[in-house]
Amino acid sequence: MKIILKVCKFGGSSVATANKIKMIKMIMDEDSNRRILVTSAIGKKSEDDTKLTDLLYLLAAHVKLNIAYNMLYARIKDVLIEIKNRLNINFDLESELNELYNHLPLYDENFIVSRGEYFTAKILSNYLGYQFVDAKDIICFDFDGNLNEKETIAKIKINCTDKKIVVPGFYGSYPNGKIKLLTRGGSDVTGAILSNALNAELYENFTDVSGVYVVDPKIIRGQKNLSFLSYNELRKLAYHGASVIHEDTIFPLLKNNIPLKICNMEDRHIGTLISSLGSNQKDILGIISKKNYIILKIEKNLTSKQKLLDYIYPKLFKYNIVMSHFVMKEDCVNIVIHKENATHIYDIIEELRTEKITKILVDEDVALISVICRNGNFSNDIMAVLSSKKENCKLFLSSENDDVYTIGVQNSDVIRVVEMFYNGLVDKIS
Ligand code: ASP
Repeated sequence: MKIILKVCKFGGSSVATANKIKMIKMIMDEDSNRRILVTSAIGKKSEDDTKLTDLLYLLAAHVKLNIAYNMLYARIKDVLIEIKNRLNINFDLESELNELYNHLPLYDENFIVSRGEYFTAKILSNYLGYQFVDAKDIICFDFDGNLNEKETIAKIKINCTDKKIVVPGFYGSYPNGKIKLLTRGGSDVTGAILSNALNAELYENFTDVSGVYVVDPKIIRGQKNLSFLSYNELRKLAYHGASVIHEDTIFPLLKNNIPLKICNMEDRHIGTLISSLGSNQKDILGIISKKNYIILKIEKNLTSKQKLLDYIYPKLFKYNIVMSHFVMKEDCVNIVIHKENATHIYDIIEELRTEKITKILVDEDVALISVICRNGNFSNDIMAVLSSKKENCKLFLSSENDDVYTIGVQNSDVIRVVEMFYNGLVDKIS
């Protein structure tokens, strides 16, 4: 049975100023079912500002390398104290910050960085009058770094039922109490874990955009957001590079079918609702781009394709290369790898060259644009857009069930090609 309770997660931009935190209070007060608040660390106030989390990563590096960090620490302290003063709240944040400063060399990166969410949550709990529940006491990992779901659910049930609470996102703890960070943007996942454990009626994720869009709203302005998505569709969008929410958010929600609403706190009546239902509309769901891929084209005059793979697979395995796509033609394979996963690519090329490979071509600076379809096949429309513009396309792939088309272009052409697809397919977007 669903519990009449909403878990609300506020992203870094939603807690970046005292005025935004005042708005959070208004939102929480608006609906008495909003009882659980998960927060990110204070984010950027403006485009050229730095996130508290990034300052803390820098601080941890200074501490580790024994480089003077007093100025950097003063900046971090100022960010927190300024918000506390502007909210006019009376609690002793200074002593805790001084205590941290005095013991910094004793702490590792995970602990230092987690203080962003920790202190932001302390400020919110004092301002809202909600109880502070430390994530280290309820988000439990085993020694291998995997979430211990059973223990986590039990701890959440004990600590978070029947009261209004604030929980810092993005971290938990090992069995020995040491802090463990999630991956970047992980507060979204903390909110999902709490929603699942408490069987919430809704997980509301407040961010700086009004839900999920077909195209990144920084590229195409004035689009309408998608109203409904299924869990699977959101996963597909996230997999292909849509960055609206952490890609692991969905997994805890699937267990109890908890609906997720992604919205902007300043415009919270619109947004995207993600649930098991989705929509039966036939339309284009996403035109998503991701830059910095490498395409490795490898040719060898061999009679069997398998021989070629026998040469290549062991090398990829040896250097731990994760492929994004793999295309097999007669005596040629195209391997697409994201640059993040390609640190040893030139070692592989060297080794392949010594094995009489006929030709190896490396195409760097490639962007992949994925057109994601819902309930229908849009291949003709996509081909029509491509051929009308005679685009220089490095790669064209379609997924097995024709719901995702992936086009490779030069990094520098990406915005122009995304705009071209958007304009060419706009009547297929609902
Ligand atoms: N503050 C962390 C980050 O910037 C985690 C989060 O925001 O969820 O990645």
